[in-house]
Amino acid sequence: MSEATGFYAKAPRNAEVAARFVELHPPFVAAAAVAEAHRCLNCFDAPCMGACPTHIDVPRFIKKIATGNLEGSARTILEANILGASCARACPVEVLCEGACVLHREGKRPIEIGRLQRFAMDALDSMQDAGAALPFVPGEDTGRKVALVGAGPASLACAAELRRRGVRAVVFDARPLPGGLNTYGVAEYKLPLLESLREIDRLCALGVEFVLETTVDAVKLAELEREYDAVFLGVGLGAIRKLGLAAEEHESVTNALDFIAGYKSGAIATVAETVAVVGAGNTAIDAAIAAVRLGAREVTMVYRRGPEQMSAFAFEYEHARLEGVRFLWHTPAERAFELGCGLVVLAVGQGTHTEFVAPMRLEMEDGRIVVERATGRTSHAKVYAGGDCVNGGREVVDAVADGKRAGVAMAQALGVGR
Ligand code: SF4
Repeated sequence: MSEATGFYAKAPRNAEVAARFVELHPPFVAAAAVAEAHRCLNCFDAPCMGACPTHIDVPRFIKKIATGNLEGSARTILEANILGASCARACPVEVLCEGACVLHREGKRPIEIGRLQRFAMDALDSMQDAGAALPFVPGEDTGRKVALVGAGPASLACAAELRRRGVRAVVFDARPLPGGLNTYGVAEYKLPLLESLREIDRLCALGVEFVLETTVDAVKLAELEREYDAVFLGVGLGAIRKLGLAAEEHESVTNALDFIAGYKSGAIATVAETVAVVGAGNTAIDAAIAAVRLGAREVTMVYRRGPEQMSAFAFEYEHARLEGVRFLWHTPAERAFELGCGLVVLAVGQGTHTEFVAPMRLEMEDGRIVVERATGRTSHAKVYAGGDCVNGGREVVDAVADGKRAGVAMAQALGVGR
């Protein structure tokens, strides 16, 4: 067990991984950001804002960039989304805010909202590095305390809302670093591990506490339920599903989550010359592109259906093709074919990871925890939940929205909300 802060400074730097995983969308230089901000029409009832699950006031933060108020711009973003820095990088903006931009209707290029958001958040980091104060302060101590299980985006967003209302927020996670998928699961060329940790340090400064390398099982959960005023479950999903083949235990077979976490944390630095990725979702694409960037000569994605059924976004598919990934369609397991490869990466969907909550007798559906959407409250009055363990696996920004709603509702239920 470890209680920790200052993750960004302490995390190991891996220059080779950084060089191989150059970011997909390079940051704006100041003049380009201001020029892009001036293209925004500052729409009334802006559709970009409605398309964001956390409802960031997009025209407002963009206008502040245009007028040079970068601290104010970052504050506008953080008011709605405390993980605004990671969402700026990890969000599929093409199908969210930028996809809804009115400029599409005029046949013009949409505003690059994601890159502008990143510009404002990077500026805040620079200001904080130079000694500027946090944009938010914790609320006055209320003597209330909440345990949060899982240190992914849903718990982080929930913890921030609690701290801003003076509630002690203690986050438990089995891994050595906090952040969940933000730290270990989002492709490095979208969201570098270090950037996730840098953002979490802002939460540490807000007083969020982390208890890491600590597995919460049924016994521990019962203890947390007794000792804390409320519990938030943000445990994400479980392991990648298996195909049920004996060969899956072979040392040259791994799963996409372990593979991505491995190279992000520096445990995997090289890869076989030929790699096959089984599956065609966004995680499969991330794994395939990672294999290319790690130096594989030939990377093939193998999918039992056709391109029209793949669950990956069209722009992710296009990106993989541009990186040189090959696709083999209509390859069900029962049809024998040969594909020589040194590594097989399975990415055929994740199971759930909620068995440990069984003694609490929460209402469940297909392994997912059922909650009241507006509050995140489960069928147990003291227990709330959000993120992938509730929605079955959506975007980081959806988890943030869940956590935010639950944090506000928990504080109100504890009599300290506003
Ligand atoms: Fe600006 Fe586009 Fe949003 Fe309108 S819809 S406010 S133009 S980003």
